[in-house]
Amino acid sequence: MAKLHKDNFQEKLDIPASEHDVLSFWDETNAFERSVTERPENKRYVFYDGPPFATGLPHYGHILASTIKDVIPRYWTMKGYRVDRVWGWDCHGIPIENMIEKELGLVGGKKGIEAMGIDKFNAACRSAILRFDTEWEKVIRRIGRWVDFKHSYKTMDATFMESVWWAFKELTKKDLVYEGRKVILYCPRCATPLSNFEIAMDNSYKDMNGPSTTYKYKVIGEENTYLLAWSTTPWNKLATPALAVNPTMKYVKVKQKGEQYILAESTLGMLDKDPYEVVGHYTGADLEKLTFALHYDFYPRKAGERAGVVVADPYVADAEGTGIVTLAVYGEDDYRVMTKHHIQLVEHVDSEGKMKPEVTPWAGMFMLKVNPLVNEDLAKRGLIYRNEDRLHSVPVCYRCETRLYHAPVPAWFIDIAKLKEKLIAQNEQINWYPGHLKHGRFGKGLETAPDWNISRSRYWGTPMPVWVDPVTNTTRVIGSLEELRTWAVDTDKANALSDIHREFLDDLEVWVDDAKTIKGKRIPEVFDCWVESGSMPYASLHYPFEHKKEFESAHPAQFIAEYIAQTRAWFYTLHVMSVGLFGTHTFENAVTTGTILAEDGTKMSKSKKNYPDPSLLFEKYGVDALRFYLMASVVMKAENLNFSEDGVKEVYQKVVSTLWNVVSFYKLYVKTAAPTVAPVPVHVLDKWIMSKLNRLISDTTASMDGYDTTLTCRLLLAFITELSTWYLRRSRARLQTDTTGQEVFGWVLVNLVRLMAPVTPFITELIYQNLVDGDESVHLASWPVADTPFIDDSLEEQMTFVQTIAELGNAKRKELGIPIRQPLAKITVSSANHTDLTSELISVFLEELNIKTGEVVKTDKELSVAVDSTITPELKAEGDKRKLVREIQMLRKTKGCKIDERVSLVLSKEYQSLPETLLEEVKNDTLATDITWGETTDIVTATQSTT
Ligand SMILES: [Zn+2]
Repeated sequence: MAKLHKDNFQEKLDIPASEHDVLSFWDETNAFERSVTERPENKRYVFYDGPPFATGLPHYGHILASTIKDVIPRYWTMKGYRVDRVWGWDCHGIPIENMIEKELGLVGGKKGIEAMGIDKFNAACRSAILRFDTEWEKVIRRIGRWVDFKHSYKTMDATFMESVWWAFKELTKKDLVYEGRKVILYCPRCATPLSNFEIAMDNSYKDMNGPSTTYKYKVIGEENTYLLAWSTTPWNKLATPALAVNPTMKYVKVKQKGEQYILAESTLGMLDKDPYEVVGHYTGADLEKLTFALHYDFYPRKAGERAGVVVADPYVADAEGTGIVTLAVYGEDDYRVMTKHHIQLVEHVDSEGKMKPEVTPWAGMFMLKVNPLVNEDLAKRGLIYRNEDRLHSVPVCYRCETRLYHAPVPAWFIDIAKLKEKLIAQNEQINWYPGHLKHGRFGKGLETAPDWNISRSRYWGTPMPVWVDPVTNTTRVIGSLEELRTWAVDTDKANALSDIHREFLDDLEVWVDDAKTIKGKRIPEVFDCWVESGSMPYASLHYPFEHKKEFESAHPAQFIAEYIAQTRAWFYTLHVMSVGLFGTHTFENAVTTGTILAEDGTKMSKSKKNYPDPSLLFEKYGVDALRFYLMASVVMKAENLNFSEDGVKEVYQKVVSTLWNVVSFYKLYVKTAAPTVAPVPVHVLDKWIMSKLNRLISDTTASMDGYDTTLTCRLLLAFITELSTWYLRRSRARLQTDTTGQEVFGWVLVNLVRLMAPVTPFITELIYQNLVDGDESVHLASWPVADTPFIDDSLEEQMTFVQTIAELGNAKRKELGIPIRQPLAKITVSSANHTDLTSELISVFLEELNIKTGEVVKTDKELSVAVDSTITPELKAEGDKRKLVREIQMLRKTKGCKIDERVSLVLSKEYQSLPETLLEEVKNDTLATDITWGETTDIVTATQSTT
C-alpha cells in the first residue's frame, strides 16, 4: 500500500513525486472502479467520449479534453451519481490510410493500394491502429484521468460496424438517405470527396500561386467578335461547352485593338490600357441568342445535348472577372445550370485528377500540370486576352494538403434538408457552454448545412451495406450480419464471417430480390468515418443487438466535451444521427473548449519546439497545476489560449504549494483526525472562515452545475488566498492552543479539499489521507452541502472593512517609517459606517497592525486612519523584544531545530536593558531553558551542549 501518510510536515514536499504515490494509491485501493460500482445503477450520469485517432501521440489538445472529461465526471460522482467511463478508439479513415500508404511506400494513390491488394492494405492498417495505445494509456493515467481502458471499444470492431449498418438501414427506411451525383470538393490524391464540415474545420484554405486568365470565345457569325470570360482553372477549359451570363446585368460590346469584346459594363475596368470604344449595349438575356466556337471538342454530343451556347442564370456575378463565366461540370452551380439547360455534360478528368484518354494531346496528365500547356496552346491560337499569375486562396485537403477541386461524383447522402427543421428544434434542448454557440456557430451551422455525403471511395472503413444489380437496378440494404446471412448467395461464406471489412465482403453476392433470383454486388464505397463517430452512443454498446435497455435508459447523455472545431464535426454528426434515428437530441450539455496555441499565439509546432514538452512539465510542477491552469483559463470559454509555462508555475505556487503549506501548519499542532461534523465556531475569525467556507460550497456547487470551471477555479483560488494570508496569519498564534479553532481549521480543510478534488485530484487526495481516519479516497467522498446558517453576510462585510483598515494602517506605518515590530499606542479610524464594530473585530486589526488600542469614530468624510506615533521607552522595549524573538526563530530554523526542541540562549548585551518580564516572554516564545550574556546573539541546541 502506497504510503500517503506523512510524519514530517516541515520537510518540503516533492509534489510531482507525491502524485506518483497517489496514482499507486488509487491503483491499490481500486479507487476508480469503486467510484463507479458503488454508485447506484438507477442514478446515472452519462457522458459520451469522442474517441481519439490513435495515429499519433497525445498533445495538449488531448490533455485539455481529457482533463475536462475527468473533472466533470469526478464532480458528479461525488454528487452521488454513477458515471461509467469507457475508453474508445477511432480506427478508420483517411489519416490511417495515408500513414500506411506512406509507410508502405505506395505510390499512385488508389491504384497503388489496389495493386497491392485491399486485404494486405487493410491488414496493415489494422495492425497499425494500436501501436501507440500504451503510450496513450500512460499519459492519460499520469494526468489523473479515470477511464476504463480494459473494456475499450474500437470503431473497427465487427460489433461497432454492425450497429453502423443498422443505423444506415434505419435512416434508409425513414427515407433519409439518397444516392445522387453531386459536385463536391474532391481530393485527387486521396481520390475521395470531402464533407463540407471537413472543409469547415481548420487548415482548409491556403494561398497558392496560379493562373488568372481572361479567355476569348469567338462569337459565331460576327467578325472579330469575342465573349470575354475569366477563369483560374485552365484544365477545365478543355471541356467548357457553354458560357453563362446574368440575365439582368448590363453588358457592352467594345472595340479595342481592331477586335470587338463583349463583357459586363461594370467590369470595363479590367480591360487593358489601350483605348476602347463602346459600340453596343445588351442585357444578359439578350446574349442568350449568341453561339460561340468551342476551344476544344473531344467528346461527341448525344441527342438533345447542347454546346457552344450562352445561357443566363442569376448566380453569375461581376465581383471578379467579366460577368461572363465558363461552364464545366466541375462546379456546383455550373452542374446545376448545365443540367437545367441541357448542356453537354463532359467529365474529362479521372478519379485521380488526370486527363482521360479522349483528351488526346494530354491524356494521363495531372490537371495542374496541364494548366500551362492549355494556356500556351490557346495563346498560340489567339484565344487569350490576358494571362497572369496570381495568389489565390484555394481549398486544400486537410489530410494531404493537395489542392482540391469541385468534381461531380456518385455519392450517398443523408438528406439534411428533410431533417433540418427537427435538427434546429432539437438544438433548443441542448445547453451549450459557452452559451453563444447554441444559436451561433452550432445553430447557424444547422441552418446552412448541406446534405451530408456519407460515402467514401476508400478501403479502411465500414463498408456500405448496399448490394445492387446494375441491370435491373434492384437494391438491397443490409442492416445486420443475420440479414446478410439470410440473403447471401454463398451462405456458408456468410456464416463464416467474423470481420466485415471490404476484403471479406467485396466478393460476397447477395440476393437483391425476395424471390432470390437476382444476384447483386456490393457498391464499393465505405462510410465516411464521421458516420461512425456520430454513431458512438449506440454502436459502442452494439445497440440494438445488445444492451438495448442500457442504451435506451441512458439516452440522451448528460455531457460531452470537445474543442470548438467539433461544432461542425463530431457534435454535428452526433446530432444528425440521433435526430435522424431517434427523433431526439443526444446530449444535454456540451462543453466546448478553445484551441491551445504556443505562448506567442502561433500554432504549437513539433518542429519549432515552441511549447514545453507535457511530460517534462508534469514532473516539474505536477499535473494538478496544469489541470487547474487549463480549467481556469479562457480556453474553457471556447477561446484560444496562448499556453504559458509561467502560468502553470504560478498556479503551482498560489494553489498547490500554498495549500500544502497551510496544511503543514495545521499538522504541526493537530495530530488527531479532522472533525466529521461541523464544529461551532467561537472566535470571530473562525466564524468568518466558516461563513466563507459555506459560501464557497454554495457558489462552487452552482458553478460546477453550470459547467463553469473557470468560475469554480477563480472561487477556489480566492478562498485559498484568504485562508492562507488573512485567516492563517491572524490565527497563527491562537491556533497553536485553541482547540475549537483547530477543529474549525480542520473542518475547513477537509471541505476545501473535497471542493478542489475534481480539478486537482492529486494534492487533495494526499491532504485528505492526512486529515481523516482510514484510507477511503477523497474521490469516494460526497460533495459538501452548504450549511447556510453559518453564512453571515454582515460579518463578512465587517471583515472586509477590517482588512481595509489593516491596509490603510500598514500604509500609514510605511509613511511614518515605523516597522511593524515596533508596537504603537493607538489608532483612530474615522468612518461613515461600521462605527459599531465589536471589540473582537477591532482587536483583529490591532493585532495585525501591532497597535495597543483603537477606536472607530463617525465621520461624513472619506475613511481614514490616524496613528499615534509616540514611542515610549516601554513601547521601545517591546519592539526590541519582538526583534529579538524573530532573530532567535531564524537561528532555530538555520540550525535545523525540531519544532519542540528546547535550546539555551546567548543574548547580545544590547538586550540587557529589557525588563525581566519581557525576557521571560522571549524564553517562552523561543522554547529556551536559560539565558546567558555574550557578544552576539546565538543559541545552543541540546545536541551541541552534550557534545
Ligand atoms: Zn488528400
